[in-house]
Amino acid sequence: MKLLYNITAGNPKKLSKPIFFAVVSNLVNILPFALAIKVVQIIFDAFSRGIPVNIKELWITSGVLFLSMIIMFLAEIPAYRFSYKGAYMLAAEGRANLAEHIRKLPLGYLTTRDPGDLGNMMMGDFTLIEHCISHLMPQLVGGLVMPMIAFIGLLFIDWRMAIAMFIALPIAILIIKLTLKLQRKVGKGHMEAKTYAANRLQEYLNGIGTIKAYNLTGERFIRLEKAFRRFMVESIKIEGLLQPIVLTAIGFIRAGLTIMVLIGTHLLLGGDLNVTTFITFLIVGTRVFDPLTTALGNFSEISYDEQAGERIVELLNEPILPGEKTPPKRHNIQFKDVTFAYGEKEVIKDVSIDMKEGALTALVGPSGSGKSTILKLIARFYDPQKGKVLIGNEDMKEIEPEALLQKVSMVFQDVYLFQDTIGNNIRFGREGATQKEVEEAAKRACCHDFIKKLPQGYDTPVGEGGCTLSGGEKQRISIARAILKDAPVVLLDEATASLDPENEVDIQSAINELIQGRTVIVIAHRLKTICNADNIIVLDKGRVVEQGDHQQLISKKGLYYNLWTIQNESSGWSMS
Ligand code: ADP
Repeated sequence: MKLLYNITAGNPKKLSKPIFFAVVSNLVNILPFALAIKVVQIIFDAFSRGIPVNIKELWITSGVLFLSMIIMFLAEIPAYRFSYKGAYMLAAEGRANLAEHIRKLPLGYLTTRDPGDLGNMMMGDFTLIEHCISHLMPQLVGGLVMPMIAFIGLLFIDWRMAIAMFIALPIAILIIKLTLKLQRKVGKGHMEAKTYAANRLQEYLNGIGTIKAYNLTGERFIRLEKAFRRFMVESIKIEGLLQPIVLTAIGFIRAGLTIMVLIGTHLLLGGDLNVTTFITFLIVGTRVFDPLTTALGNFSEISYDEQAGERIVELLNEPILPGEKTPPKRHNIQFKDVTFAYGEKEVIKDVSIDMKEGALTALVGPSGSGKSTILKLIARFYDPQKGKVLIGNEDMKEIEPEALLQKVSMVFQDVYLFQDTIGNNIRFGREGATQKEVEEAAKRACCHDFIKKLPQGYDTPVGEGGCTLSGGEKQRISIARAILKDAPVVLLDEATASLDPENEVDIQSAINELIQGRTVIVIAHRLKTICNADNIIVLDKGRVVEQGDHQQLISKKGLYYNLWTIQNESSGWSMS
C-alpha cells in the first residue's frame, strides 16, 4: 500500500482507472488466444479420430476470433487513454501542488536544500512516477492477470500439467522478495548519486560566470567530475546487482516450460495424456511466460522509482508555516526576547525591540551583526526558536502567512526580476494593477523615463534574473513594485554601495516616495542616510547594544559614535 502511495505521490486513487482498464484489456486479450487453441483442438480432434474436420465449427470459431480482435482493439483504447492521461494529469497536478507547497514552506527549510534539488525533483522525479503509472503498473498488473487466469483454466484441463508449468514461479518470487531490501539500498545509492550529479551540474552552470572570471576551472570542475564518476559507479553497481537477480528469477519462471514438457512427455508416453491437451499446454506455455517476465522486471523498476515518489511525499509532508488569524489593523512591530539560530548557529540573541507604527527605524551595526536576519524575521521567512515577533501586538506565528506578506513590502539588495516584461515585473507588486497604476508607480520610483526610452517601453522583456538592466535600474524597478504594492510596512536594505551618483539621487527620491507614512525598518550601511530616523537600533554580534535617535547615540560615545566617526568624512544622501 505504501508503494502505491509513493509512486502516485500520495494519490493512490489515481491508479484505479489505469489499472482497471489494464485488467479489462488483458482479460479481453485472453479471448483470441483461447479461440486459437479451440481451432487447434478442432483440427487435432478430427485427425486423431480419423474423421473429416468440422469446417462449420471452424468457420464459426474463426468468425468469433475476428470479432474478438475488434473487441480487443476497442478495449485497448480506454486502457491506453486512462493510463497515459492518468499519468500525465497526475504529474501535472502533482507538480503544481508541490510548487504551491514549496511556496508555503518556511524559507529557512528551503535554504537547507541544494539549489538544483527541487528543480530536479519537479522534473526528474515526476517523470519517473509518470512512467510508473503510464507503463510499469498497468504492465505489471496485466502481466499477472493473464497468467493467473491461464493457470486456473489449465487446472481444469489437466492439473498435473498446470502445476508443472508454474512450479518454479514461487522460487522466482522468493528471489525477488528476499533481495528487495538489497535492491532498494543499491537503488537509493543510485538515486542519490543521480540527484547529486544533477545538483553539481546546476551549480556549475549557475556559477559559470564566476568560474570564468576567477579562472576556477580546477576545483569546481573536479567536484562535478567526481559527481559524474560517482553516478557512473552507482549505475554499474545497480546494473551489476539487478541484472543477475532479475535474470535468475526469470530463469526460474522460464524453467516451468521445460519442466512441463518433461512431465508432459512422460505422461504422454505412459498414455496418461492425450496429444491435444499436450499441444494446448505447449501453446499456452510459449505465450504465458512473456508477460510474467515483463511483470517481474517491472516490479524491480517500480521499487526503484518508488524512491522518487517517496522524496516527493516527504517534501509534501514538510509542515508549512502555521497561522490562521487575519492580520491586525495596527502595524507596530515588536521583538520580545527573540533568539534565532540558523541550524546550530545563534545569530540573534535575546533581542527585544519596538518599532513604532508610521516611524522610521534604522538597523545599524557591523557586517554579520544580524541586521538582515531581523528583516527576515519580520518578513517571516523564518520563525524564531525563542521569543516572539509581534505585529500590531499579535504574535506573527498566529497570523496567516500569506495575508501577513500582503502587509509587508521588501526592497532588498539582491533584486530578482522575472523573465517577463518590465511592466509585468512591476505588476508583481499588485496583481491586476492597470497600466496607468504601473506607470504611476514607475514615475514615483524614478524609472518611468528610462523605461520609456527602451525599444518596447513597458513591454520590453527582461532577461532571466534581469541581466539586461543595470543594478540601479533594477533597484528602482523593485521600488516601483513596492510602491504599487502599497503595503503599510516597508523593509528596506539600503543598497547604494556600487551605484553611480545619478542613480544614487534617483534611488534616494524613489525611496523617499516609498516610505512616506509607513512603518519603515531600514538597514543602513551609511549612517548619514538615517540621521533623521525616529529610532536607531545598534546591533553587535546578534545583540542590541544601543538605541536612540542620532543625537542621543552620538552623545553616548559607544559603537554608533565609533561607526559614525569612521564614516564621517564621506558624503551621502539622507532619508527625510
Ligand atoms: P548583517 O545583515 O548584519 O550583515 P546577517 O543577518 O546577514 O548580518 O547575518 C548574521 C549572521 O548569520 C552572520 O554570521 C551570517 O554569516 C549568518 N547567516 C546569515 N544568513 C545565513 C544562512 N542562511 N545560513 C547560515 N548562516 C547565515
